[in-house]
Amino acid sequence: MVFAKIDLNLRKAVFLDRDGTLNSDPGYICNPDDFHFFPGVPQTLSRLKEAGFLLVMVTNQSGIARGIIPPSALCAVHNKLQKELERFKASFDRIYVCPHHPDFGKKLVCKCRKPFAGLALQAISDLSIDPKQSYGIGDKESDALMAIAAGITPILLREGICFSIGGVQTASNLQEAVELILRKSS
Ligand SMILES: [Zn+2]
Repeated sequence: MVFAKIDLNLRKAVFLDRDGTLNSDPGYICNPDDFHFFPGVPQTLSRLKEAGFLLVMVTNQSGIARGIIPPSALCAVHNKLQKELERFKASFDRIYVCPHHPDFGKKLVCKCRKPFAGLALQAISDLSIDPKQSYGIGDKESDALMAIAAGITPILLREGICFSIGGVQTASNLQEAVELILRKSS
């Protein structure tokens, strides 16, 4: 007799945008010294880890296609970020980057640039994530659209703005978004 194969080991995750969500965004950060978390971000991320969530970053970095950010510089920035988070046991389990832009470099119309869900779907497959138990936090509509397309619950970090998409939960900052998630999943 053949039973349907059900993966009981699917994990829950929180997908996070980078610029404007975790850190201030001066635009095209090339130097690790220019990367600064908003206050309390590492501590807040550690609470998600303690609650059993994987942490996945999904970030559009078109500065690479534009020739503004060398790939090695992006690596250096992410190494710094991960090192800082490690001190709080809050480092990302995986970081996914879309380096493309439809108007620059190879002018690639890719499926990994948010709002497309290519990278989130890749993470779901790579890390055996259950989208139904997972959340996506970001400060732009493209973050919410990516989450919806991947079957993840979106939370937008802003208030009082009229969205073209309805029914998306908002929070005024990362801490508030994490409170929402922890309340829902407890
Ligand atoms: Zn891409």
